Amino acid sequence: MRQPLKVLLVEDCEDDAALVERALRKGGFDLTSTRVHDAVMLAAALAQPWDVVLSDFSMPGFSGMDALMLCRSLQGDVPFILVSGTVGEETAVAMMKAGANDYVMKHNLARLAPALQRELHDARARASLRRTELELIDSEKRFHAFMDASPFVASIKDHAGCYLYMNKGWSTAFGVQGEQWIGKTDGPARRNLRIVPSASDLEVLDSGTITETIDEFHLPNADVAYWQNTRFPFIGASGQRLLGEFSTDVTALKASEETIRKLAFLDPLTGLPNRRLMQDRLLHALAVAARSKRYGALLFLDLDNFKTLNDTHGHDAGDEILKQTGQRLSAGMRAQDTVARTGGDEFVIIIEQLDCVTEAAADAGAAIARKIIGLLDAPYMLNGNLHRMSASIGIALFCDNQPGPDELMKRADIALYSAKAGGRNTQMMFDPAMQARIAMRNTMEADLRLGLEHRHFVLYFQAQVDHAGTLIGVEALLRLQHPDKGLIMPAAFIGLAEDTGLIHDLGCWAIETACAQLCTWSTDPACAQLTIAVNVSARQMGDAGFVARVLGIVEGSGANPHCLILELTESLLLDEVDCTISKIIALRRRGIRFSLDDFGTGFSSLSYLKRLPLYEIKIDRSFVQDVINDTSDAVIVRAIIALAHSFGLSVIAEGVETLAQRDFLTSLGCSRFQGYLFGRPVPVDMLDVPA
Ligand code: C2E
Ligand code: CA
Ligand code: CA
Repeated sequence: MRQPLKVLLVEDCEDDAALVERALRKGGFDLTSTRVHDAVMLAAALAQPWDVVLSDFSMPGFSGMDALMLCRSLQGDVPFILVSGTVGEETAVAMMKAGANDYVMKHNLARLAPALQRELHDARARASLRRTELELIDSEKRFHAFMDASPFVASIKDHAGCYLYMNKGWSTAFGVQGEQWIGKTDGPARRNLRIVPSASDLEVLDSGTITETIDEFHLPNADVAYWQNTRFPFIGASGQRLLGEFSTDVTALKASEETIRKLAFLDPLTGLPNRRLMQDRLLHALAVAARSKRYGALLFLDLDNFKTLNDTHGHDAGDEILKQTGQRLSAGMRAQDTVARTGGDEFVIIIEQLDCVTEAAADAGAAIARKIIGLLDAPYMLNGNLHRMSASIGIALFCDNQPGPDELMKRADIALYSAKAGGRNTQMMFDPAMQARIAMRNTMEADLRLGLEHRHFVLYFQAQVDHAGTLIGVEALLRLQHPDKGLIMPAAFIGLAEDTGLIHDLGCWAIETACAQLCTWSTDPACAQLTIAVNVSARQMGDAGFVARVLGIVEGSGANPHCLILELTESLLLDEVDCTISKIIALRRRGIRFSLDDFGTGFSSLSYLKRLPLYEIKIDRSFVQDVINDTSDAVIVRAIIALAHSFGLSVIAEGVETLAQRDFLTSLGCSRFQGYLFGRPVPVDMLDVPA
């Protein structure tokens, strides 16, 4: 097969051109050729590609050198062979130097074909090399563009730690000309900048794996910078071990991480650990106690009457108190102890490393709690005014992983509850009896809820009689008829119902049931005049919706409001007198009357009696009990009766158990009685009502 060849002949002599063509055909080429002989023609011909340019040297007005120059400028490295008569050696050398690829003399054209073959081969090799070079340049360009645009600080070092490459980011980050460091080691540049990672380059090279470190650097201006360094060993083209490195400044990221951490674990108001962090510290403290066999203490602290301060002085004042409390607590405790704010006005203090002996640890814990109470006892400055705040503290000890964190917190809480119940501004150490009481309370609370839901409550009625012993009314007394535990008396649950708020529903149920009973009696002329006195507790009366609720019940039931008496205790009147008075007035207007229960046991001034639109006062059982034997009680009772009468109030004595008591009370001017003498509290069907 003949080899196709596109030849551009630069030749003024047509015969010579024919000779050249013949020589080439003879040499095995399948020729396509064009002949030109001046610059214009050559330039035009070079618009298309040629396999080879064969050029004579001397032509009229044009030379081989001119042709060569034109070729090189218009078609780069197309093979150019000078085919000429004898030219001087000097010319030939000049041509070769100028880029001619070969020189064949016209009288030796037999050499042309092999020379051309070789030249074509070389040209292909050159083209391939050129392509490779271009690709390499292209790849380099891409690499640089890519690396310089990268947000990373990147570099490559050889195994001796000398820089081979760094990107623009590197120069920018370190404020130095990267090129200056090519061939140099890390040392001076980065050490000045204090940005030398914690693991050495050699360690990374030897490890053979990607190493990622986050390193902290203290800058000369006292700021701290964080750099994340990713380094990886790799093998270069010639087999040398190299180290690549990507670094990025993560200082800002760290800062936001820190903010998030603070948000997650610190209370924003006081800057103290929050509940989550406290729980974490508690686990840690338990572990320390287990190891050291020394007791620690968990203190729950609650500000007394904080809610009142918040309500009366506003939330800003409340926040200020909390902040100052946090500061006092932190300042007063040792560094290894934890002070946390776990919500509202609740603080938790974890004290570690007390003592190995239980009693000594308990004493130490109590002493610290006393100290804290003292710290908080100093007046607080609020908007230029002094305020006093007190706190209650519950303490629970732990040692040797006992008890677990949940139980421990429960214990501290129970102790705190007891401290609060014990009159506030005080501390209480958890003891197991406390827990038993709480457990009983919890069971009782569940019983109350269940009782309300399943109608386990019943109203017992106790007779109230006049001087002749005639039934004039009853007092309604609550009982819980528990399916398993039997009849439960109100002393066991009224206080709890008040604390839990269940008293609202329970109290309404009692009024409803009493009203239903009044309705039943109203149809029987013998009973239609009987009154029912229902006890109302302070919590109920304090409820803003109390008046509306009672009126709703009474009116809804159709009972005669004149037959309903509500019994209030004296203590009730101590708080919010004006509010209570307006409620009494509102209900009285609808016919409902009020009796003041347990009279004489409270501290209320008798002058209240004047302001209260009462119907009756009820002399407390305790006076009745001793009225015969205790002369001072007799004096008090006589005074009470006289006073009541002077205000136009009716008087009833409760707890009358003997005829002697009844007679004596009669002699003092009392004309109504209630007590075991006339009947115990009983279910309605056992009540001795007039036939
Ligand atoms: P209270 O209002 O002082 O009720 C009188 C209590 O004295 C009743 O006890 C009654 O059984 C008892 N008692 C009556 N006569 C005698 C007597 O001759 N001798 C003695 N030693 N005791 C007598 P109870 O039923 O156990 O009620 C205790 C307290 O529970 C009541 O005291 C009242 O404060 C409260 N309570 C009862 N039912 C209700 C209610 O529906 N609502 C509210 N808020 N409290 C209630
Ligand atoms: Ca009563
Ligand atoms: Ca009473």
